[in-house]
Amino acid sequence: MLTVEASADSVERRLGAGELSCPCCAGTLTGWGHARERSLRGPAGKLIRLRPRRARCRSCRVTHVLLAVLALARRADTVDVIGSALAAAARGAGFRSAAAQLGVPAPAVRGWLRCFARRAGPVRAFFAVLLAEAGPDPVMPAAAGSLVADAVAAIAGAASAVAARWPQLGEAPVWQAASAASGGLLLAPGWPPGVRNTI
Ligand SMILES: [Zn+2]
Repeated sequence: MLTVEASADSVERRLGAGELSCPCCAGTLTGWGHARERSLRGPAGKLIRLRPRRARCRSCRVTHVLLAVLALARRADTVDVIGSALAAAARGAGFRSAAAQLGVPAPAVRGWLRCFARRAGPVRAFFAVLLAEAGPDPVMPAAAGSLVADAVAAIAGAASAVAARWPQLGEAPVWQAASAASGGLLLAPGWPPGVRNTI
């Protein structure tokens, strides 16, 4: 799986130009059909249909699904919706009020928050490293009062670093930048590397 920009036209163009590299061996990826269509729940419950492109590496021949930066692996909501819930929690909201603000079922929000809280320390460290690599004088966010808030602050701080590293995303919204930096794995098992997660 490889995270790419949301624009299908841009992905197609880069695929055609041989600009996408295999995450396994850095070989050149070529188009290889499509993965099955999926729907994501976006802001205000709006359904967004995605038909992810599939690509195959010319060198190692492994196929990869090109997951749009809007999506996170194993999650049915866009990363913008999930990120808004995490940001609300960072500001001290409980899962019920975050869910009510977003119009999302409360159990889903509870699941995201639990999952994120469990890895908040390593997530903060991951994005702090990204931020530190960004420029000569990075400004580390001050402690925000909770592990979750610190992790969310680090993600926000690293967004511009992400824009520099993945220029095709342009100035991506903060949570899309987090999706890109995690390869879509922000809430997936085993991410960041070295963390054991089951949800
Ligand atoms: Zn390869």
